[in-house]
Amino acid sequence: MKVSENVKIIKENIQRACERSGRMTEDINIVAVTKYVSIERAEEAVKAGLIHLGENRDEGLISKWEVLLDKPQWHFIGTLQSRKVKNIIDKVSYIHSLDRLSLAKEIHKRADKPVSCFVQVNVSGEESKHGISPEKVKEFIGKLNSFFNIKVVGLMTMAPHTDDELFLRSCFRQLKTIQEEIHSLNLPYAPCTELSMGMSNDYMIAIEEGATFIRIGTALVGND
Ligand SMILES: *Cc1c(COP(=O)(O)O)cnc(C)c1O
Repeated sequence: MKVSENVKIIKENIQRACERSGRMTEDINIVAVTKYVSIERAEEAVKAGLIHLGENRDEGLISKWEVLLDKPQWHFIGTLQSRKVKNIIDKVSYIHSLDRLSLAKEIHKRADKPVSCFVQVNVSGEESKHGISPEKVKEFIGKLNSFFNIKVVGLMTMAPHTDDELFLRSCFRQLKTIQEEIHSLNLPYAPCTELSMGMSNDYMIAIEEGATFIRIGTALVGND
């Protein structure tokens, strides 16, 4: 399938999810996750009008950035090792995987302007998943106040691979609750207005539960 055809389908689905939940389609940002695909396919995504591209490895991001430069905005969505921060920091607009203080320290040190970050939360409690546990998010964000190169724009989660819609909804809803709690603290460095949640299998549910950034790979650009 052409990327543009997939975009059309996904936008129709977004529209429907927004209608069901009384939301505006303008509030939903699509991050095209290009980690599985070629530079050519990523370029096709940009030509199809997608302005946010997501990668989960520094090599993948750099090789695509070298061709596409700053035409799209780059999102780092995967586990980020501190020693890799310097390779990507001047190329990314968003980091979705801030999950520990040592990483915050490194981002702060390497960035020359504030970077929009999502704090990754492990709402499902699966041991294999990265992220701060829900009860520790507030304390963690409190500790970021001295890192003025970090702007906590929102929270991110990866839901479990399951068809259990109720469970997915409860994960997304929990993230939304924590996001609103942090937002209400009015921390200047943590506006926390955004929710990065929803992937190919669950983005419509995520939108119904408040997602503002959905990260879609397989359903949008494919996975080979
Ligand atoms: C790979 C990946 C995605 C996209 O997954 P799909 O199921 O292919 O849409 C989204 N978020 C993160 C963090 C990922 O690593």
